[in-house]
Amino acid sequence: MALIVKKFGGSSVANAERVFNVANRIIEDYKEGNDVIVVVSAQGDTTDDLIEKALEINPTGASKREMDMLLSAGEQISISLLAMAIEKLGFPAKSLLGWQAGFQTDSHHTIARIKNINTERIKNEIAKRNIVIVAGFQGLNKYDDITTLGRGGSDTSAVALAAALKADLCQIYTDVDGVYSADPRKVPNARKMDEISYDEMLELATLGAQVLNNRSVEMAKKYNVELEVLSSLEKKPGTIVKEIVKMEKTLIKGVAKDNNVARISIVGLQDTPGIAFKLFNKLAQYKVNVDIILQSVGRHGTKDITFTVPKDQALLAKEAIDSLEGSLNFQEVSIDETISKVSIVGAGMESHPGVASKMFEALCDAGINIQMISTSEIKISVLIDVKYADKAVEAIHEAFLNYL
Ligand code: ADP
Ligand code: ASP
Ligand code: MG
Repeated sequence: MALIVKKFGGSSVANAERVFNVANRIIEDYKEGNDVIVVVSAQGDTTDDLIEKALEINPTGASKREMDMLLSAGEQISISLLAMAIEKLGFPAKSLLGWQAGFQTDSHHTIARIKNINTERIKNEIAKRNIVIVAGFQGLNKYDDITTLGRGGSDTSAVALAAALKADLCQIYTDVDGVYSADPRKVPNARKMDEISYDEMLELATLGAQVLNNRSVEMAKKYNVELEVLSSLEKKPGTIVKEIVKMEKTLIKGVAKDNNVARISIVGLQDTPGIAFKLFNKLAQYKVNVDIILQSVGRHGTKDITFTVPKDQALLAKEAIDSLEGSLNFQEVSIDETISKVSIVGAGMESHPGVASKMFEALCDAGINIQMISTSEIKISVLIDVKYADKAVEAIHEAFLNYL
């Protein structure tokens, strides 16, 4: 007998047929005598539809507290429907909202972090042999206001619950049958991995492979929760995400793209000490997440600084820069939102020279211009025009196919 946490994503519970499919899979584990706790996302595109509704009311952006109130409704629908389906099949189930399941978070509405899970209620329900269905993506802050964890946050809810309950297994069910070397919907010959290390998965998730939310991987690593990513529709083994110490280091593990990037260029900054400090200190005060930074060589007493931020923070970054008027001299600021960050990830590249040049060669052969480059020990990212993003992923994946 085991304690199992299972998470089902939005497409896995998108309609009544899928809800019953999930209910049946849960019941199979329950009938074997296991304790089963299920975390569910909102059905299909519900969260996107709710965001649309909010924009109809306030196109410039409603308050984050009310966005959380609205978006958390999506998961309330899916947990109740799934519990009803399990009951209809003759088994006991109890659905719980985030707060009922004991999820306490900080107060950063729309991107809250889980601080603690009071598992008492869940344990009571399990002791009564109920199948517990928990709303993912949501919690309660210390003011008793509902919070959400950021897009894709149900993965994090599941991992956090598995850690808090010391579960034997944490299974993330989705609409593909595992983690691949590139998005299998975009790159048909992408390879499925049997296993992947936390570090490599974290990089892939952070760089745009949305099959797992990056915070969930971070948490899985911290609490040593072994994850399995698998299909909710087909019964076959998925991909295990775990600490791999003795790893056969393939050159690269995967290719990912992230279109949620804006590039901000400040042209004609004065070329004196302290300018970068002034600029990035202000951006930090405005809580802008800066990613890649590039500074030109100074000429005629001026220089240019270019950096990237998530698209939805571009205007905030502009505000931060504008607030420096008077104390920072420059000629102009421009924002480009038509870019994509394409990256390769792999622990093996550390010890293999030539990986970067192979990536750049693939882009050159495909006629794609590189705008910015950033590297770390286990990843290389390039910034390119968004219209070539899919083509770039395919070309790079093809170039490394024999090394995957
Ligand atoms: P869920 O609703 O189950 O949370 P998501 O849409 O968030 O599902 O994540 C699953 C999707 O992630 C897949 O449909 C696939 O298109 C995409 N994806 C992107 N990169 C990868 C990858 N490297 N491996 C597998 N899937 C990927
Ligand atoms: N429903 C939320 C979203 O669409 C959370 C999730 O699916 O994990 O982002
Ligand atoms: Mg997801």
